[in-house]
Amino acid sequence: MEVLVTEKGGFCFGVKRAVNMAFEASCGDHGPVHTLGPLIHNPQVVERLDGKGVRAVSALEEIDRGMVILRSHGVSSPQVIEEAKARGLHVVDATCPFVTNAQRYAKQLVEEGYSVVMVGNRHHPEAQSILGHAGANILVTENFEEIRQMLNRFPKKRLGILSQTTQTFAKFSEIVSKALEICIEVKVFNTICYATEENQTETMAMADRTDAMVVVGGRNSANTTHLADICRERGIPTYHIEAVSEILPEMFVGVQRVGVTAGASTPDWIISEVVERLRQM
Ligand code: SF4
Repeated sequence: MEVLVTEKGGFCFGVKRAVNMAFEASCGDHGPVHTLGPLIHNPQVVERLDGKGVRAVSALEEIDRGMVILRSHGVSSPQVIEEAKARGLHVVDATCPFVTNAQRYAKQLVEEGYSVVMVGNRHHPEAQSILGHAGANILVTENFEEIRQMLNRFPKKRLGILSQTTQTFAKFSEIVSKALEICIEVKVFNTICYATEENQTETMAMADRTDAMVVVGGRNSANTTHLADICRERGIPTYHIEAVSEILPEMFVGVQRVGVTAGASTPDWIISEVVERLRQM
């Protein structure tokens, strides 16, 4: 079986930056090191960090001293940072600059008086952090009917749209096109990050020339899940796995060529293990 591997898969710029910051912090002298929530959406990396003494906590109340690292998706509101400082904690902000940009654009649209929609998943931590920073009600959805219902309440129909950084371009442009059909004014910020876009484009092309795709990454990772969706939409068998142990020979019966892609929070060592196992088959 031939095994193809995407070049753009694996740690993106923002995740690499956050993980490096955390490993560096584990060697520092600021006392116990914590992350507010898992640093990235990959359980194996979070476990490795834990082994280095970097503990993920779910609330500031669980920390009495030392350092707190704010994860790549950002925190739920600027008040969290103020509270951490007020508690005397050393704060390291590992929020990805692309997420910071999306927070800024969302705030701008709200201040300019648009009804604002973010194309994404409202339960995702990044969406929560953008909502928290924009300081107002923003509709987060991937369902255009919800947008239509919201707009029905506003006669001027001035709509501001941005996207979760890991959104697929196809979904984002579909929502923008539909909005143009019913709005008087639409202001759009394309806040999909370039790492996500490049990875999706390469994955799509690979799915078109393979018999099956393996997508490696955390099941709680939005961008990994989107990659798996992209592959399934191309109509080929797609396996979203977190670790090499999930690979079974029966998945690849009759497969001549398999493609491997990975989410932005998947470390190289896990991708290599998966590729190695597939090559042995
Ligand atoms: S996927 Fe993009 S937005 Fe998210 S952490 Fe990576 S570079 Fe930043």
